[in-house]
Order: sequence, then C-alpha cells, then structure tokens
Amino acid sequence: MDKQQEFVLRTLEERDIRFVRLWFSDVLGFLKSVAVAPAELEQAFAEGIGFDGSAIEGFARVYESDMLAKPDPTTFQILPWRAESPGTARMFCDILMPDGSPSYADPRQVLKRTLERSSDLGFTFYTHPEIEFFLLKDKPLDGTEPSPADQSGYFDHTPQPVGHDFRRQAITMLEAMGISVEFSHHEGAPGQQEIDLRYADALSTADNIMTFRLVMKEVALEQGVHATFMPKPFSDHPGSGMHTHLSLFEGDRNAFYEAGAEYQMSKTGRSFIAGLLRHAGEIAAVTNQWVNSYKRIWGGSQRTAGAGGEAPSYICWGHNNRSALIRVPMYKPGKGQSTRIEVRSLDAGANPYLAYAVLLSAGLKGVEEGYELPLGAEDDVWALSDAERRAMGIKPLPQNLGEAIDLMEHSELVAETLGEHVFDFFLRNKKAEWEEYRAQVTPFELKRYLHLL
Ligand code: GLU
Ligand code: MG
Ligand code: MG
Repeated sequence: MDKQQEFVLRTLEERDIRFVRLWFSDVLGFLKSVAVAPAELEQAFAEGIGFDGSAIEGFARVYESDMLAKPDPTTFQILPWRAESPGTARMFCDILMPDGSPSYADPRQVLKRTLERSSDLGFTFYTHPEIEFFLLKDKPLDGTEPSPADQSGYFDHTPQPVGHDFRRQAITMLEAMGISVEFSHHEGAPGQQEIDLRYADALSTADNIMTFRLVMKEVALEQGVHATFMPKPFSDHPGSGMHTHLSLFEGDRNAFYEAGAEYQMSKTGRSFIAGLLRHAGEIAAVTNQWVNSYKRIWGGSQRTAGAGGEAPSYICWGHNNRSALIRVPMYKPGKGQSTRIEVRSLDAGANPYLAYAVLLSAGLKGVEEGYELPLGAEDDVWALSDAERRAMGIKPLPQNLGEAIDLMEHSELVAETLGEHVFDFFLRNKKAEWEEYRAQVTPFELKRYLHLL
C-alpha cells in the first residue's frame, strides 16, 4: 500500500468516516457513485471493487459486464454537505476490466491516454474553465419554460430574495473540497451565474468539473432553487458556456510563450490553435454534445450586442475578439507563464474528460504536423456577410447535432482519441437523440403554421 492510500485509511478512522463513495463518469459525463464501507477499501485499492458495468450507459455489452472500480487516493475528499458525524468521503475511480487492464469505456481513461501522448511529446496540459449555469425557481418537466431565480444582469451585485447568498456558499463548499475558485460573478442573463476555477492539470480540472456540477446542485437545493447546466434553457437569453483556457507546459516553462512574438504566442501555441481550428467541426459533437448545445451556438442573443450572448458560431481565432471560437486573451508583457488560449465553444453539458481529450488531440495534431495558423479575425464575425466570411476562409461550426455527428463519424482524430468502443457508443447514442428530436413537431411549428396553412 502506498503513502496516499495509507493517508486515506488513517483519515477515515480519525474523522469517523463511515461511508466512502466511489465516483466515476459514464460516457455522457453523468456522475455515477457506489458507496462502500471503509473496511472494503484496502481491497478496493489493491484490486478494485466489482460492479455490473452493463447497468451504466456506454460501459459494457451485457456479455462482458463485470468491471472493477479502483479508487484514486489522490482524489480523496470529505463531502462538506455530509459533514455531520459519521461523515462521508469520495474518491474518483479508474475503471478496470476483470483482468486488471484499463477499461476501454472509461472516459477518465480516455483523457489519461491522451495526456500520456502529450507527455511523450514533453508537454503537460493545463486547463482553466469558466463555468456558466442558471439558477431557476423551478424545474418544470412538462416542457414549459422555467423561471430564473433572479432578475439581475452582468456583474450585478443587487441582493435578490432568492439565492443571493448562493455564490458565497457554493465557493466555500468548493474550497472545502480543495477546488480553488479564481473568479465569480453574475452573468448576462437573469438567474445566470459564472464561477471560474483556478488552472490545474487537465485530469484534475475534469474531476473538478464533475464535482462542481454536483456541488452547485446541492447548494442550490439547500437554498430552495435549482441549478442547471443546460446550454440554452431560454430562447430569449444567452446560453451557458464553459469557455476553457488551455496551455501546454514543458517542465516549468509555458510552451505557448515566446517573448517578442505577436501576442507573445510561440510557434507551438500558433500550431496548437491551428489544430483546434482545423478539427473544430469534427470534435464539436463531443464539446457540444446535446441537441440543445447548438441552440446556444446558433441562438439569436449573441447578435443583439450587449445581451452577453457571445457564443461562437464561426471557426476563427482572434485577439480579444469575443465573437471568435478561439481567443488569445490580453497578456501582460513579461508575464509569459500566463500565456494561454481560450476555447469558447465548449458547454458545461459536455463530458469534461472526453472534451478535454479531443481538444488536446486536435491541438497536438497541429503541433506535430506543424499546421500554419490562418490570419486572425479582428472584426465581429457575426456582423460580416456570408460572402465576406467565405472570402476570409471562415467556416461555420456545425449548425445542429446532426451535422456534428456526420463530421465526427468521418474523423480519424476523434476515433483514435476516444478509442473504438467509446467512439461507437457515443455515435450510436447521439444519432438516436438526433433522430428522436428530428421527428418532433415543435410548438414553434404549431404556432407558426396552424393558422396559416
Ligand atoms: N454566455 C456566453 C456563452 O454562451 C459567454 C459570455 C462570456 O462570458 O463572454 O458562451
Ligand atoms: Mg462568462
Ligand atoms: Mg470567457
């Protein structure tokens, strides 16, 4: 048993923890949990705990359903909302096949594999997500529009009757679980919040996003409201994104930084952006995995400036250009270590493990193949005409999940990154969602056509 594992066992005893939840993610990014008694942990560390994988979306075919969950002791945390004694703790797990080899269906494994590729090239991958979400008074399940929990706007700081204490409580709880928050504020739409996590290696960030989504829902319920990461719950308000800042380090040197270069961006940084741009269409089904994700990207609100919509619709990059898919944020001369790029397509409904894996793969492809960075766009690309965008070589992101699936299906990059099993399951699952949606007659059509036709 290693030191980390010993530390966990000792803490369980000292803090009177009677329940340990083993957490993992299914292929779509839903958190799964199995509780074990502390007495089981020694064995869990040694061999893993057996469970029936066929019950989990995307995990296994029925005839090979036995799987093992092996806790990662470095992710041990006591759950602050179950603080009373006896307490509850959690650890993220790696999923193993019965013979002890890593499961091909485990999203955490997909990211780990991609991170290994990156470290073979000498790079560590850091991410820093800006997570947006809505607080709602209710969560109607019959298709009617929910009510936002407040009426505030961008950076507003007016006390509201519902949930005004929310961010303070939520951040306290995140910090209690070792997740550092850099920044938080009210976002542009009523009820919309943003909390930005401090940058960390991509595996920790992905684990943190899984925890974050649960913590937000727990705190919201405590305050009598509901949190949702649905990308676009309102037609008339901007949606919720999960812009993510990315950087590669070589040892303790930021590989995107080059003193004196344009925007301080090194050749590696430029090729990484070029990779993200060239493969943006084929990875979109992973970074924006729901029918609703495309309502955010193509929703109307970003065109009414000031509404704070600002979700990207077109594949281009720019410096401080909020209409671009990729933004090179403002930099401070001499502050090379903070050189980074911001990807603005991602939403918080994504599976963070898979999303970070495909983003990293696309960027690395650019670096390995030495892709040239196309010219940046410094204009508001929504304001250009189609002909102007075409002349500049700026293509749209997929306009709906169906288009995104078509592009992904032909992508070698995504197939290689996800591995055959996850790739096939994901496509099958998403096709079913798209087909079901496509067959619906919507309220829009009834309102529009019934009295006309
Ligand atoms: N809510 C916007 C989006 O969906 C982003 C607003 C911003 O932070 O720039 O991407
Ligand atoms: Mg924001
Ligand atoms: Mg941003």
